[in-house]
Amino acid sequence: MTYKVIVVGGGITGLCVAYELIKTLPPDQVLLIEKQRRLGGVILTEEKEGLLLEGGPDCLYAEKPWAVELAKEIGLGSDLIPPQEASKGTYILWKGKLHRLPEGFLLLVPRDLVAFLKTGLLSPWGKARVLIEPFIPPKRSSGDEDLASFVKRRLGKEVLERIVDPLIGGVHGTRASELSARAVLPRFVEMEEKWGSLLKGIRHFKARPKGTLPFLSFKKGMGQLVDGLVERLKGIPFVMGEGVRHIEASKGLFKVYTEKGVYEAERVVLAVPARHAREILGPSRPESFSLLGMFKSVPTVVINMAWKEGDVLGAKGHGFVVSPGEGLKLKAVSFSSRKFEGRAPKGILLMRLFFSQDEGIMELEDRGIYELALKELGGILRMKEEPMFWKVYRWPEGLAQMRKGHLELVEGLRKALGREAKGVFVVGSSYDGIGIGDCVRGAKAIARQLLEGLLS
Ligand SMILES: Cc1cc2nc3c(=O)[nH]c(=O)nc-3n(C[C@H](O)[C@H](O)[C@H](O)COP(=O)(O)OP(=O)(O)OC[C@H]3O[C@@H](n4cnc5c(N)ncnc54)[C@H](O)[C@@H]3O)c2cc1C
Repeated sequence: MTYKVIVVGGGITGLCVAYELIKTLPPDQVLLIEKQRRLGGVILTEEKEGLLLEGGPDCLYAEKPWAVELAKEIGLGSDLIPPQEASKGTYILWKGKLHRLPEGFLLLVPRDLVAFLKTGLLSPWGKARVLIEPFIPPKRSSGDEDLASFVKRRLGKEVLERIVDPLIGGVHGTRASELSARAVLPRFVEMEEKWGSLLKGIRHFKARPKGTLPFLSFKKGMGQLVDGLVERLKGIPFVMGEGVRHIEASKGLFKVYTEKGVYEAERVVLAVPARHAREILGPSRPESFSLLGMFKSVPTVVINMAWKEGDVLGAKGHGFVVSPGEGLKLKAVSFSSRKFEGRAPKGILLMRLFFSQDEGIMELEDRGIYELALKELGGILRMKEEPMFWKVYRWPEGLAQMRKGHLELVEGLRKALGREAKGVFVVGSSYDGIGIGDCVRGAKAIARQLLEGLLS
């Protein structure tokens, strides 16, 4: 049979593309092919020994509203949960000490100047450098800039080293110098363009209700979003456990080859990381192949560990991120059972440690990762006993890196595909942003574009 659309990849992006398509197309006209025997991609929630373990993401960033809107649309609104207020606070490990991120800090910029002036994280000079930001002239050219240069230029070296690099490491698994300012934090680049200053611009930005945090999860963990979407995809045929190898165009249609079979469709959506899209498209589409080779990602490893509460001393707030200058492989630690309710039985501290970037870590056995986690954590917190439970999750494709010039690269790639493989679309975190909200937004946009072409 010839399908209208084949969606390759059953991560959040592919599922969301399929969901959007069947609002218009009959479900049996859309085929979804997933290499693994499970759906959700890097979203993986498991229940073990009374613990709710997040192997990949643990929350949605609510200020990018698209995933939250999707959750509500598919009936999960009442299952969304905010972080627990009582234990809140993000800390930054800098010079061997945990410093609380000042209240009201919006990624780069302080909104609450009183809290900002009290922090011990920056020197008096570092604080003064932030306060003179409105007098720093805006950049003249509109070209992209790496995030480190942007932050240093506007807010100074201390904010970069002591706040932004650790936070970026905890979210993107890399350093600000590796990322595009415009792709990663467009809102701040636009503030500079519009208001000439971030401190001036932030005043025009709607504040969150005081004391609230911009994160949300689900009562039963992030897997609920995947299950909720799959529930809505009834009637769609799924091919599971078959990886797509390549695509051939023939007579206005596409033949999609897996290890086991051939499937045919009018359109193909590649909702897979760029490296896989490159393998599937192959060198016979030279421009797309070459551009896809320019996308990078960093492998990441997550280890969940559980202790009796009293066996760990010094665990503060919802967790901490690590400044790159500390020389650790560890990037961030979330105290999951304090961050969201329902993650562990009373009296148990469940935490989630996040490692990335260092490829060597992927070569370690699980036991090696466990020992590394204990060693690095032991230099920060005091553990009286070994954990009662631990489990490692590996993500070789990890986190997509949006490097300087990313938006132009994506635009160039999509144009090249239009010339070399018209009817094939690429979408997902490699292109549209790593947040689940970004993936949902990208999926909706591609579904809309595809349907416009298909139905016109
Ligand atoms: C450890 C970790 C923590 C994170 N934390 C957060 C967080 O807290 N909040 C947040 O918003 N984001 C977070 N992210 C980012 C976010 O989870 C991802 O960007 C997003 O889930 C990616 O979704 P995707 O569908 O684009 O890709 P993926 O989830 O990678 O899905 C791609 C799918 O394609 C399949 N596939 C690959 N090749 C083929 C092939 N040849 N044929 C068929 N199928 C194929 C894969 O098996 C996979 O299922 C985190 C990511 C990681 C790794």
